[in-house]
Amino acid sequence: MDIVTGNIGWIEVVCGPMFSGKSEELIRRLRRAKIARKRVQVFKPVLDDRYSADEIVSHSDCRMPSQVIKDAREVLNLLDWRTQVIGFDEANFLGPNLVEIAQQLADSGKQVLIAGLDTDYLGRPFPPMPELLALAESITKTLAICMRCGNPAKHTQRLVESEELIVVGATGMYEARCRRCFEPGIPKQEYLEFAKPGRDRHTV
Ligand code: ADP
Ligand code: ZN
Repeated sequence: MDIVTGNIGWIEVVCGPMFSGKSEELIRRLRRAKIARKRVQVFKPVLDDRYSADEIVSHSDCRMPSQVIKDAREVLNLLDWRTQVIGFDEANFLGPNLVEIAQQLADSGKQVLIAGLDTDYLGRPFPPMPELLALAESITKTLAICMRCGNPAKHTQRLVESEELIVVGATGMYEARCRRCFEPGIPKQEYLEFAKPGRDRHTV
């Protein structure tokens, strides 16, 4: 006889650098929940408009409809309380309130699936991911392929000059790098010199 467990909630986190397959993995898990006929809602931050406003999209073009929020607290208004599984993509851009909201949802019996960058462009832990990792029932760390040497990559290398924490973009602005090839912060001067407008160009 099956044990009736009731509506037990939990938090699952998928973390790693850009291009490591976090969105793919999140979408895979959410699709399986749908196959199991669970009610699913997916949220992503408003600033990630790389591909689509109302879908989460992986670099390999897996897609799933999603709702856009500025702050994790908005979920409380947007949530259909019949929803059993709640996905968050790009969770590192959802702010510190995501911790309290994820806990609240899990405590009330929801399955909370969270994908996000665990480190920023300087290699520092990216809030609120560290706290979520500590509170989660399940953690998966995905690795990408280092674009310099082909080894497993845990870092997101920024290729454009900016000291802002958040520069939204994808191919061309960031690449995956391993521990050895990662250069924290702004790229090397030679790269920037090359990129400067007017340099090495003939003026008319
Ligand atoms: P994330 O959400 O972690 O940024 P995605 O799920 O959007 O990752 O994309 C993962 C896909 O990106 C891979 O399946 C692969 O097709 C592609 N990809 C592009 N560059 C890389 C790389 N350097 N390492 C691994 N996968 C890469
Ligand atoms: Zn490398």
